[in-house]
Amino acid sequence: MTIAQKSGARWIMLAVRLLAIAGFVVLTNPGFIQRILLLQNQGRWGTLVFFLGLWGLSMAALLIVAFHRRLWVRAVWAVVIALTTAVGFAYQHASGTEFGVFDAVSLWSARHEAGRAMEFYAGQMALLAVVAAIGIAVLTTPPALPVAPVQRWLSRLVWTPVLPVALIAAVIVLKEGGGSQALPSQFVPLSVGLVSAAKMVSNPAPEREAIRWAPGRRQARHIVMLVDESVRADYIDWTPGNAYTPELARLQPRLVNFGPAASAGNCSHYSNALLRFAAARKRLGVGVLTNPTLWQYAKRAGYRTVFIDAQSAFNRDPGKLQNFMTAEETRDIDRLVTMPENVPAPELDDRLLDVIVEELRSEKPVFIYANKNGAHFPYDASYPASRQLFRPTMSDAQREVTRDGVEKRTIATYVSAAPEQTRINSYRNAVRWSVDRFFKRLFDEASLSDSVVLYTSDHGQAFDPTRLSHCTVEEPDPREALVPLFVTASDPALQQRFAAGAQASRGRASHFALAPTLFELFGYAKGEIAASYGPSLLDRSTEAPGFTTGDIFGLFSPEPRWHAIDLGRDYLEPGAATTSHRGVSASQVESTTVTR
Ligand SMILES: [Zn+2]
Repeated sequence: MTIAQKSGARWIMLAVRLLAIAGFVVLTNPGFIQRILLLQNQGRWGTLVFFLGLWGLSMAALLIVAFHRRLWVRAVWAVVIALTTAVGFAYQHASGTEFGVFDAVSLWSARHEAGRAMEFYAGQMALLAVVAAIGIAVLTTPPALPVAPVQRWLSRLVWTPVLPVALIAAVIVLKEGGGSQALPSQFVPLSVGLVSAAKMVSNPAPEREAIRWAPGRRQARHIVMLVDESVRADYIDWTPGNAYTPELARLQPRLVNFGPAASAGNCSHYSNALLRFAAARKRLGVGVLTNPTLWQYAKRAGYRTVFIDAQSAFNRDPGKLQNFMTAEETRDIDRLVTMPENVPAPELDDRLLDVIVEELRSEKPVFIYANKNGAHFPYDASYPASRQLFRPTMSDAQREVTRDGVEKRTIATYVSAAPEQTRINSYRNAVRWSVDRFFKRLFDEASLSDSVVLYTSDHGQAFDPTRLSHCTVEEPDPREALVPLFVTASDPALQQRFAAGAQASRGRASHFALAPTLFELFGYAKGEIAASYGPSLLDRSTEAPGFTTGDIFGLFSPEPRWHAIDLGRDYLEPGAATTSHRGVSASQVESTTVTR
């Protein structure tokens, strides 16, 4: 072989090596482009520069390690980085969310359930092993870069990977457990692990307490708690004959309306955790981690427990847990229903309702907690294209900017071309389909005798295109916590008591009233409940309504962030009241109402 041939072969080797590393990074960081588009769309330029800088540093660190002359150096770093990547990738695959501090804490506090969790995540364990093996192979292959000065520098820079790990850890601490979205999965899980370990050493996560109350007489045989997704209170219109939610307006006499109400948090996972973990307003932080869960209270009172997750097929893999649910928590769930991947998004709530209808036929007492798919972003995916009553929608706006006529249904394209009005139109369509139509079906098909149905949403929604729609930690728009809250009880006396509670607490309804309400319905003594919890929906509330944002577990901030919300104010966007259903007359709106 001539020198030229040798050098040519070397360059080819080098290119192959770089391609392999690039492939490994690209395949294990699916959210990178979307994150850039999101930051760009929201005009968060400083964050974008920092994000790209951190990525640049991380990639430099990766190359320094991969091209180091000594095998043992490459091997040691390869094992660390490949395992880190594999954990992050497998976790994302399992849960649909990136591995974060609270996930690490939940996993750690449930470590005695490791065997069960392994079984639950068996598929992911194999994936984890494959990703780790590929990572180790890609990073330890001989470097094909024998240029002496370069090698000298690589030797000096051998500790560079510590830098991105430390910087990402710093971001996580500053952002109270968040802030690591779409940063390189080659380093993030390690930073998350280090921050979590430090947090857990300083605040050891305690075990959940046992229930001390004795169950009494159950107030209802069947109790259904419906938690919708992203449904804002004022987008349910109670005016008879309105075009937005006509069925709910018709059903109003059968409902006790407490809304608008304040959600507990303004983010899906925090709100659902606060609800399922029976958070008491005055005892957040460690209390959220130590309270018995709703499932435990229900089981103790003799209820069969059913959890339905209608979101599991959407953006996520079926059969996976979300919103801080751990394998340990599922031990107290008798039936856990997730949606198969092939269910189209507009049908998710119908499948959820099928399960409820089926469960309510049972003679045995049942407690159902169901996460609806509701108005999950992107809104236009939540309802069939034939139900675009209010236009132009976000998809219409998108179609106008997509010159080649190809409709690309990605979150990034939705975000980048959606003025407020189109957001509102799409949202109106989603609410009409998955909330209004849903309740007609519920009342038509479910046997509601001896039962109570409680309905709310995890959080509200804001439509300003320059801000987050929800989950804002600092200075959140109160619309992010503006949720509906209504109840229907088959027992007239109980319905009457709810009505009295709603009347007495007008303007002060809150998610925090739901746990004590459920306890009363389960049959626990009012005196005991009142010792730990605020007023239930059956009581008069004098508490000023408020909601939390950010860390609710007390891991990063000793006190949760509280935000006041005026539930008497008109929050409706100017464009919302006049939302046109272009070309659709009132009678047509009527006739497009479908039952399934
Ligand atoms: Zn949500």
